Amino acid sequence: MTMTETGNGGRDNSGGVRSGSRVMRTCLGCRGTFSQDQLVRYVLSPDGDLLVDYRGKLPGRGAYTCIHRDCIRQAVQRRQFQRSFRTPPREVDGNHLIASLEEQILKRILALLGMARKSSCAVSGTQAVVCGFEGGEQFRIVFLASDMSSDIADKVRYKAGLAGVSCYSFFDKGTMGRITGKSESSVVGVRNLPLAEAIRIELLRLEQISGES
Ligand SMILES: [Zn+2]
Repeated sequence: MTMTETGNGGRDNSGGVRSGSRVMRTCLGCRGTFSQDQLVRYVLSPDGDLLVDYRGKLPGRGAYTCIHRDCIRQAVQRRQFQRSFRTPPREVDGNHLIASLEEQILKRILALLGMARKSSCAVSGTQAVVCGFEGGEQFRIVFLASDMSSDIADKVRYKAGLAGVSCYSFFDKGTMGRITGKSESSVVGVRNLPLAEAIRIELLRLEQISGES
């Protein structure tokens, strides 16, 4: 996509309105106008499939919704995706879009966890995290492997609860191990540093998509 800068409040050639330096877009669901980084982008593949472009990297004309499943469902019901592209998408399936978005957000969380680990913003290992809590370490988020022993998970949850830290369970031991450079990892604690806030934002988005809180 090429962008034509036309100054504050101008229009670029892809239908976005600029407010300051941020490109504003309209959600196909609620019709609200938001800055592009608050929305999820959709593009058409060369075959005419509607793709979720969560990181906003794919080429082509984009359509947008809020990162909220109600807006996605509304856009699907009102056939807004069909109206947004010159050639309508082959098929528009709300459940498929939501599942694809969930998958891409989880991938993003994993990537952020990997970065957190590399910059010593995350601590891996049951013992290390439990000892961290006992030593007054300031964790912001704890990830528990979905396939870890429930007794040990309860123990970590208890420690986290005392410290007011939320625990999440999305990945198995093997997946958590890969990002922490081990074969398996059951527990990863994210320290209260800026990267933790980035992860927290993604977790919030995931809740708005899955409808779980
Ligand atoms: Zn919306």
